[in-house]
Amino acid sequence: MRLPGGRIYLDCNATTPLAPEVERRAVGGRGSLFGNPSSPYAEGREARAALEAARAQVARLIGCAPGEVVFTGSATEANHLALRSALSAHPGRRRVLLSSIEHPSVLEQREDLEALGGVVQTVPVTGEGVVDLEALGSLLGPDVAVVSVMAAHNETGALQPVQEVGRLCREAGALFHTDAVQALGKVPSPWREARPDYLSAAAHKLYGPKGIGALAVRNGAPLRPLLRGGGQEGGRRSSTEAVALACAFGWACDLAREGLPAVAALAALRDDMERELRSRFGAVIHAARAPRLPNTSFLSLPGAGGRDLVGALDARGFAVSAGSACHSGQGGLPAVLREMKADPALAGGTLRVSLGRETEREHVAAFVGALSEVLRSLED
Ligand code: PLP
Repeated sequence: MRLPGGRIYLDCNATTPLAPEVERRAVGGRGSLFGNPSSPYAEGREARAALEAARAQVARLIGCAPGEVVFTGSATEANHLALRSALSAHPGRRRVLLSSIEHPSVLEQREDLEALGGVVQTVPVTGEGVVDLEALGSLLGPDVAVVSVMAAHNETGALQPVQEVGRLCREAGALFHTDAVQALGKVPSPWREARPDYLSAAAHKLYGPKGIGALAVRNGAPLRPLLRGGGQEGGRRSSTEAVALACAFGWACDLAREGLPAVAALAALRDDMERELRSRFGAVIHAARAPRLPNTSFLSLPGAGGRDLVGALDARGFAVSAGSACHSGQGGLPAVLREMKADPALAGGTLRVSLGRETEREHVAAFVGALSEVLRSLED
C-alpha cells in the first residue's frame, strides 16, 4: 500500500497501519470510554457495554462465543497464557510439543515451561515448511499436555494442517493451542474446523492498534491467569481493561471479516510478482508448493547474499523485511529456512514481501522496478 508521504509499505505481516475507519469508529463510535468497566455507575456501565460489544466483534471474527475471548496486552501474552494454562492443568501430562517453526513468543517459553516441570519437544516441518503430521503422531502420547502449532507462518505464509493437528490432539487427549496471529483477517478462522482449545490473536496485524491481543479459550479448557489481583476478564486476566483499544480491535475485526475476499484476491497479484521475480532475478520462492497466505511471499535472491537489500530498498522508499535472519544462529539462514533444510547457499538475500488490503498492482510493479535497480547497483 502507499502511505501518506508516498512510501510503499509491503510488510503487512510485521504490522498494519490503524485503518482510518477503525480510528474514526473507535474514537467516536461508542461515546465516552474513560469509565472503568468495573465501576457500577453510568460511566462504568458505558465502558462495560463498549467492552462487551468489542468482545462480541472479536469473537465473531474468530468464530467463538464472546465469553471465550480474553483480552490480553498482546499476542505474545496470549501465547504465554495458553501454554502455561495447559501445562498446569494435568500433573500427569508433562510433555509440551511445539512445532519447530513457531514464533519466538512460543519457542522461547521453553525455559519457563521446563521450570514448571514441562518437557518441551519440537515437531519438525517438511521442506515446504509444513508441520510433519507423521512426526507429530509419533510424538503424541498420554503424557502430552499441549501441542502448539500456528495456523500460518509469519515469514513463509505456509498454512499449517491445523484441522489434522486438532484431530490428533483430541485422539491423544492433549490440549491444542494455535497461534492464529497471521491467519486472522487473511484466511477464515480455524476455530470451528480445527477446534483448538486456545487461539491467539493480535489487533495490529489486522489494521487495529498495537497493545492489545486476545486469547480465545474454549469453554471448559483450563486457564491459569498470568496476572492476578483485580479479577478482571472474569478472573482470567487481572488489570483494568483497555477499553478504547478493545473497541478499536473490535471494529478492526469487523473490517477484517468484510475484507477477506479482498485479501484472497491478493494471491493473483502475489503470484504474478513471484513469476516475474523468478524469471528476471532467479528468485527462489520458499514454501511455494505449500498452501499459503494469499498476501505473503518469502524469497531468496541468489547472488545477493550478505547485501543490505532491505536498507537499499528503504532508501528508495519501500518497506519490506528480510525475514527473521536476526534469529538465525548458524550460517545466516533464517531459522525457518534452517528447519525446512533449505540450501545454505540461500543465506542472506532473503526478502519477505507481505501485501495488504490496499496493495495495488502499481505498488508491486514499482517494488520490482526498485529491486531491479538495487540488484544492478550491487553488480557495479
Ligand atoms: N505470533 C506470530 C505468528 C506473530 O507473527 C507475532 C508477531 O509478529 C506474534 C505472535 C507476536 O505478536 P506481538 O508482538 O504483537 O505480541
